[in-house]
Amino acid sequence: MKKNIAIVGAGIVGLCSGYHLLKKGHQVTFFDRNKPGSGASYGNAGSFSNYGAVGLNQPTIFKNLPNYLFSSFSPLSIKLNYLFSLLPWAIKFLRQCNPKSMRDTAEKMNHLLTFSIAEYQKIFLEIGASHLMERTGVMYIYNHENDPRVTESTKLREYLKVKQVLLTKHEVHDLEPNLNPVYAGGIFFPTATHTRNPKKISDMIFTKCLKMGASFIQDEIKYITSSTIKSDSKEYSFDQLLISAGAFSKQFTNQLGENIPLETERGYHVHFKDSDTLIKRPVCSFDSGVYLSPMDQGLRAAGTVEFGGLKNPPSPKRIDYVTREAKKMILGLSDPYDSWLGFRPTLPDFVPVIGESKNFQNIFYAFGHNHLGWTLGAVTGSIISKIMSKDGVNLNFDKYSSLRFS
Ligand SMILES: Cc1cc2nc3c(=O)[nH]c(=O)nc-3n(C[C@H](O)[C@H](O)[C@H](O)COP(=O)(O)OP(=O)(O)OC[C@H]3O[C@@H](n4cnc5c(N)ncnc54)[C@H](O)[C@@H]3O)c2cc1C
Repeated sequence: MKKNIAIVGAGIVGLCSGYHLLKKGHQVTFFDRNKPGSGASYGNAGSFSNYGAVGLNQPTIFKNLPNYLFSSFSPLSIKLNYLFSLLPWAIKFLRQCNPKSMRDTAEKMNHLLTFSIAEYQKIFLEIGASHLMERTGVMYIYNHENDPRVTESTKLREYLKVKQVLLTKHEVHDLEPNLNPVYAGGIFFPTATHTRNPKKISDMIFTKCLKMGASFIQDEIKYITSSTIKSDSKEYSFDQLLISAGAFSKQFTNQLGENIPLETERGYHVHFKDSDTLIKRPVCSFDSGVYLSPMDQGLRAAGTVEFGGLKNPPSPKRIDYVTREAKKMILGLSDPYDSWLGFRPTLPDFVPVIGESKNFQNIFYAFGHNHLGWTLGAVTGSIISKIMSKDGVNLNFDKYSSLRFS
């Protein structure tokens, strides 16, 4: 039966979900306070990282914690004024940093990642966007031989049968000759892909949704009940609702009586003008966490994890960090011409929430995709549309349900 479905949040997750729900014949209205695709889905590194099953919940975090907390040269930082607010999430996260939970996260993520690129390919074929996905693979580089973080994650990916090729120092530089030749080695992920323009992809999916009959209302949603969503001036009704507001979803789940431990890992990017041809594919420094990605706007350096909540202003020190690390990766880069702050939505077990809400059978969630939301947009849209239409009854997606936090 055709339902009136409201989707709050038109990032890549909301857009792909809307696309699949429209294909099932439903009436879809997107609500977003900004233009579709302009949140985290705009500024990411553009990598379809189908290899990325291993989350940040690794046992090695304990050894590196003092450095993370107190050094401005660290890939991870915490804003002091947010330390207290972060504590409940941080305790839950640290409990997940053990070999068993690390493997559990990796298995759940790999289950989604295995289909991630194929699900995009289906959408791209229909909207004429296949040329926007480049098949050059993705490369990771690291500073030190036998780094336990590299060996542990490599072993786990081996167990998951993720395609990866270990590279010597020379092979790294054969693939990307403009990289500073200081890296000890690398890992190449040959089946990963990337796009030079995430926003263009979101725009094309959105345009297709409008053509299929969707509506878009630009409004800031403040309050949700079991049958209405409200902004300051308007109230809208729905049969079914999907909350896909990325890192901003928690205010709504709180209103619906569920305490889901959603945090944000703030990330940054800068662009170096006219430098996008210096590398052929995204290159990520394992040690700094900075990705270099060739983009239409120039060479994008993206990364760093900052815990500072949704309200703190951008941190100049983090922008300097990304810039400095990018300049170490490729010598001679000029200064960047812009900077951007985005909000990754992250649960303490590094697995997204995809499924029905705890208290309302007509309200659904799709958020919390952390570092992989760009990669997982299409597969999430496909799964949640099946759950919402109740035509995925034979498929078991319980492991992504919010009930794991009850
Ligand atoms: C620096 C950086 C690099 C990254 N690189 C990659 C990468 O290479 N590959 C990868 O897979 N992932 C990457 N990610 C992660 C990825 O970008 C995110 O996980 C993903 O974009 C999340 O998508 P989303 O649709 O859930 O959220 P968003 O894109 O943030 O969309 C949420 C939408 O909800 C709207 N919204 C919020 N609150 C309200 C409200 N009250 N009323 C109305 N609308 C509201 C927002 O305006 C926004 O449009 C990166 C992230 C960052 C920050």
